[in-house]
Amino acid sequence: MSSLEHIRHSYAHLLAAAVGELYPGVHNTIGPAIENGFYYDFDFSSTTNGKIPSEKDFVSIENKMRGILKSWKGFEGKEVTEAEARELFKNNPYKLELISDIVKKGEKITLYTSGNFTDLCRGGHAEIKDMNSGAFKLSRIAGAYWRGDEKNKMLTRVYGLAFASKQELESYELMIAEAKKRDHKVLGPALDLFTFSDLVGTGLPLWTPRGTIMRNLLDQFVWSLRSLRDYERVEIPHITKKDLYMTSGHWEKYQDDLFKIKTREGHEFAMKPMNCPHHTQIYARKQWSYKELPQRYANTTTCYRDEQSGELSGLSRVRAFAQDDAHVFCRMQDVKAEFMKIWDIIHEFYPKFGLNLQVRFSRRDPQTPEKYLGGTERWDMAENFLKEILADKKAVAIDGPGEAAFYGPKLDFMAKDSLGREWQVATIQLDMNMPERFNLECVNEKGEKERIVMIHAAIMGSIERFLSIIIEHFGGNFPLWLSPVQVKIIPVRENHNEAAQKTALALEKAGLRIDLDTSDTGFGKKVREAKDMKIPYSIIIGDKDIEAGVVTLESRDKGKIGALDVDAVVAMLKEESDNKK
Ligand SMILES: [Zn+2]
Ligand SMILES: [Zn+2]
Repeated sequence: MSSLEHIRHSYAHLLAAAVGELYPGVHNTIGPAIENGFYYDFDFSSTTNGKIPSEKDFVSIENKMRGILKSWKGFEGKEVTEAEARELFKNNPYKLELISDIVKKGEKITLYTSGNFTDLCRGGHAEIKDMNSGAFKLSRIAGAYWRGDEKNKMLTRVYGLAFASKQELESYELMIAEAKKRDHKVLGPALDLFTFSDLVGTGLPLWTPRGTIMRNLLDQFVWSLRSLRDYERVEIPHITKKDLYMTSGHWEKYQDDLFKIKTREGHEFAMKPMNCPHHTQIYARKQWSYKELPQRYANTTTCYRDEQSGELSGLSRVRAFAQDDAHVFCRMQDVKAEFMKIWDIIHEFYPKFGLNLQVRFSRRDPQTPEKYLGGTERWDMAENFLKEILADKKAVAIDGPGEAAFYGPKLDFMAKDSLGREWQVATIQLDMNMPERFNLECVNEKGEKERIVMIHAAIMGSIERFLSIIIEHFGGNFPLWLSPVQVKIIPVRENHNEAAQKTALALEKAGLRIDLDTSDTGFGKKVREAKDMKIPYSIIIGDKDIEAGVVTLESRDKGKIGALDVDAVVAMLKEESDNKK
């Protein structure tokens, strides 16, 4: 079986062959394999029939591709001289430019021919039997500058999807269609969780009452797990003097990402892009005995990064985001126990969302030990601790040589969502650099000053990004405990309002989040609204219910549950919500 990358790139040749026949005179440029498929960039300004394809022409191009594929036997490669190559592509300025580059680099010039089509290519093709005429599809057209440079001519990029089989292509398309329906950028505002304002600016989400409830619930959940492990809450201002980041190194390293502020007295300040440097200064407020360590500081707080406008996207990439951040200040010998605690928090947190975790052990690149700060002995010790944790937890980790930060090894966690997509979520990072830069110490058993280490331990990372993931993962159908409105109470007619109010009060007293709808909107519309807002439960109150002293409970996920007395409903929902089922 040919590799998927080779298969995908081979379809790019097929596309260029078909386009060449349908649009004679077209200049084809480059056509690589990409994730899920391939593309080919064309310059259609030179076609002899004056045609430029649009997405409407995909069917005819695809049919042409299928026809050509039948005549192909294989890809035949041959090396040619510069003169031969130039002769072959004498009418195509793009290929001529590529040939010059190949010559400049001193590389061989190779051509690959399949059927009647020959392209300049360095190779890597599939066997024809692995190219399935049902397993590819053209997907879209976009403009693309030649060589990605906006000073160059704008070309036409035709994208295609390609997989090893028709089934894989279809399941990918299904996943994309489902992901589109669940897009948090659409679903979030539809569920009234967040909004953006042109006056406030792009990348700066504003949280509505419902969205804020969810943020707080998530934060409280993390905090409940942390407080069991002796973390303490701290608070910091959102700006700092430049000096803090000069010392931490961020001023230089993250120049472009920093929002800088000039005070009226001409001093330079910055909005914080992370919390670690501030937290070091809370630790540094006094001299610590080893007996008082570890110090564990937790702080959910907003950070600011000056991302480029073009990079911003919904909640996934923003300019202001809240981190559920924590830092542990401890001695090297405590690292294993502290990592273990954070490991446990992560493994109690993520399963409540039905997200399965995969861990990666991000360690030094053994080829370049000099790139890393902190000394071989300390690194060996740290990496061994992490290995021991993985062994103790019987975790099968992905090995990540060279994935460590320059200041310490990490455990990185990936979560797979309900559509099978993988997201990088939590990380536990050891940091041997910042304590050095800020001269953080404790007094050890011998009465000597000892350099400590610090651990970065966000569980969600950014709450915004985490919400973007779970909005799509659940498709907005949040579990009861996380739903901003848990129960909608719907009186059938106006004369049922009083009974509905009584029911509402009983639920609210029990701490359930309810929405009582006594407006004069019709009953059917109220029921529909509850569905649209994906509220987990509805309580319906009509004549029969009032007579029997019950309410009718309906579930978003399980349909009609039946007539129950209010106490039974409260007990049932409380149990489900409190246990985060
Ligand atoms: Zn090729
Ligand atoms: Zn940190």
